[in-house]
This record gives sequence, C-alpha cells and structure tokens, in this order.
Amino acid sequence: MTTTDSTTEPDETESAVETARRQLERAAAHLDIDEGVIERLRHPTSVYRVSIPLERDDGSQEMYTGYRAHHDSVRGPYKGGLRYHPGVTEDECIGLSMWMTWKCAVMDIPFGGAKGGVIVDPKDLSSNEKERLTRRFAEELRPMIGPMRDIPAPDMGTGPQSMAWFMDAYSMQEGQTEPGVVTGKPPVVGGSYGREEAPGRSVGIVTREALAYYDRDPAETAVAVQGFGSVGANAARYLDELGASIVAVSDVDGAIYDPDGLDTGDVEGHDESPGMVSGYDAPETLTNEELLELDVDVLIPAAIGNVLTGENARGVDADMIVEGANGPTTSTADQIFEERDVPVIPDIIANAGGVTVSYFEWLQDINRRSWRLERVNEELETEMRRAWTDVRREYESRDVTWRDATYIVALERIAAAHEARGLWP
Ligand code: GLU
Repeated sequence: MTTTDSTTEPDETESAVETARRQLERAAAHLDIDEGVIERLRHPTSVYRVSIPLERDDGSQEMYTGYRAHHDSVRGPYKGGLRYHPGVTEDECIGLSMWMTWKCAVMDIPFGGAKGGVIVDPKDLSSNEKERLTRRFAEELRPMIGPMRDIPAPDMGTGPQSMAWFMDAYSMQEGQTEPGVVTGKPPVVGGSYGREEAPGRSVGIVTREALAYYDRDPAETAVAVQGFGSVGANAARYLDELGASIVAVSDVDGAIYDPDGLDTGDVEGHDESPGMVSGYDAPETLTNEELLELDVDVLIPAAIGNVLTGENARGVDADMIVEGANGPTTSTADQIFEERDVPVIPDIIANAGGVTVSYFEWLQDINRRSWRLERVNEELETEMRRAWTDVRREYESRDVTWRDATYIVALERIAAAHEARGLWP
C-alpha cells in the first residue's frame, strides 16, 4: 500500500512530502509498528486551501492562495508555522506538517503537526498590505484553528508582527482575546521572551552536544552558516559565544568569509536589516554554493530547503552538518553523506527549540502568566538535552544515521499513542 510518491527514485526536485515519506519509511523499517499506523502517517488528516482577496494600496484587488495542512493530532492539537513565500505549494505544506509531527514528538511536546502558508513574495507587499493579507488569511482559517485545535506560528516570511495581527483578527471575531491561538507573538500581547531566538539557540545547543559527542572542542571549531535570518544569526551568535569560530555566513545575495572568524554580533541579521550580510566589509566574499563546500568543522544550512543535493553533497567538506532550516538535505544527499560517514544532525531536533518555546508560550497564554527569559532559556536547555539524550541512545544502540535515530524516537511515541487511542469511527 505504499504510495507512488515514496517509491519513486530520489531526485533533486524531490518535494518536501516525498522526502518526508521516504524518511518515515526508513525509520519504520527499524521498528515493529502496525502497518496501518504507518499508512495513516503517510497521509495528512486534512489539507485546507483558501483564496485570500487582498486590496492593494492602489485600490486594485488581487487573489492569493493559502494552505493549511493538518498532518496528525494523536498527541495533541495541530501545531506549526505559516510561511509567506512564492514557492509555497500544497505538497510542501504537507511535507512540512509531517516534519512538525515528528519534531513535537521528539521533543515530547503534546502537539501534533501542521503547516501552512500563502503563495506570495512578502517583499512585494507594503506593511499595510501584509497586515490585510494576514487578517484575511486568519479569517479564512478561523474554522480550522483555535488554541485547542490548531496553533499557527511564524515561519519563513512571517514573524511576531504577523502573529499579532493574526491573533487580533481571530480574537475580534471570537469576541474575546485568545492569545493561545498562535505563538511567536510579541511579548506585549502574550508572546514568550526568547521565542524569536529559540530555533537558532537550539541549533547552537544541539551543535554543542554533537561536538561533545565527537570529543571536539568548540574553541577549535570552525563553523559556516548558510542564511543569517532568525535561525542562522541566533545559532551563529550562540556558537560564537561558546568560543567557536564562525568563518562564514550568508544571505540570499552571497556570503562573507573570514578564516579568523567573523564578529557575529557586528553583522546585522537579514531580518534586522535585509541586505546587510553581503554588504558587510569582510576579508572575502563567496557565493552561497562556495560556502556550502568550505573546509569547516560544522556546516549549518539555515536558509531554505533542498540546498544539499546529489550535485553538491560530494563537494561538502564539513566534518558535520547540523540542519538549521527545515529539509535542507535531499534524500540523495543524505545517502551520500551516509556513505561518506558525514554525520547529519536533522532539523527535527536541531531547530526544535522554536516549537518548544512555542509550547512554553502556549502554557503562559493559558495560565495568563508570563515567564522570565532566564526561565525560558533554562527550560529550553533542559528539554533540548533530554531530547538529545533520547536520540543519542537510539543512535548508539542501533546501526543507524542520526536522522534515523531521531525519527525512531519520534515514531515510537506517535505509534504508541495511535495504538492506545485506536481507530474510530
Ligand atoms: N515554524 C517553526 C518550525 O518549523 C515553528 C513552529 C511552531 O512554533 O509552531 O519549527
């Protein structure tokens, strides 16, 4: 009963849902899980497609298409980001929603997996247009979401301000303020301190743990980071503080390189100030492709999906890869890294700090009580270490890759929940 998607040969145009299904099959092969449960996990529960009419600033109207994929909710409400990107597709949302299910399970957070987005280049919209688009999208999604049903969050192209508009639109229609309907809001309206930094911070924490596992000293570690947005910049700064040398970072226009290490505090993030990375006065500039092939200890792809492919995986010279972006490695590249013995620490644990602090935010919203930043960071540290220990245990006890080990942890929890709840109606 395998779907055709998961049996076709890997290629570089592989969609997120194909990659996600392939990864599911690999992990399932190591476990004794009911085939019926695996078959359910190959498919999303539902996928919503909405049309979003937008009045442009010049008075004209334009239609946009948005999606929300609900993958699985056996462990709790659907959870996952909303992205604004011209490349958003239904299949991409489904694949990303599957990754959210595994991510929440690896972290042992009581949420399922969802993802959504709008096919739009946010750079083409004014702030007012972005606000109107977000409010209308919230309204179209209103029947499918809610603090106990499905809780969106930021992703590529969205951030705290979009979440504030989204929460406001939802709350105005519900007749009461519902901060728990989305996470990643600004702290003044029920957002959590530390949420914005959390995905990058967890990439830093997991890199630190992985370096310790391989007996490597952070002070003697050279790191290249592709993408200097929220994830990349915060990961780079965390590792810089730990003593690592961040030799290269990039934005969409190119990379800057300093073999002696860049001062990451001095380079403005792409979100803080778009275009400043490639405009920074560094000893050398590189293309994004060259950055991926630098001879470094750790490579952190933290920009977009499918950047490590069958074409460049053999050229990657890093000793270790830690995935900051969601799905940066295609199945072909994964196979090559496995053959070459290059450890790849997967996205679903590395950047899971985002959804973990989202969970903290949701708890704070339900309790109407905010946590101090120190508490958020301490609890994040505890959760990341716990998840890392669970994954490391699987990695050490089986002959599998880090990705398989991570999936095994997630899948065992999800399958156990499905078996306990059963199939009904
Ligand atoms: N978009 C983020 C992710 O991919 C966060 C999701 C969330 O916090 O719900 O993990």
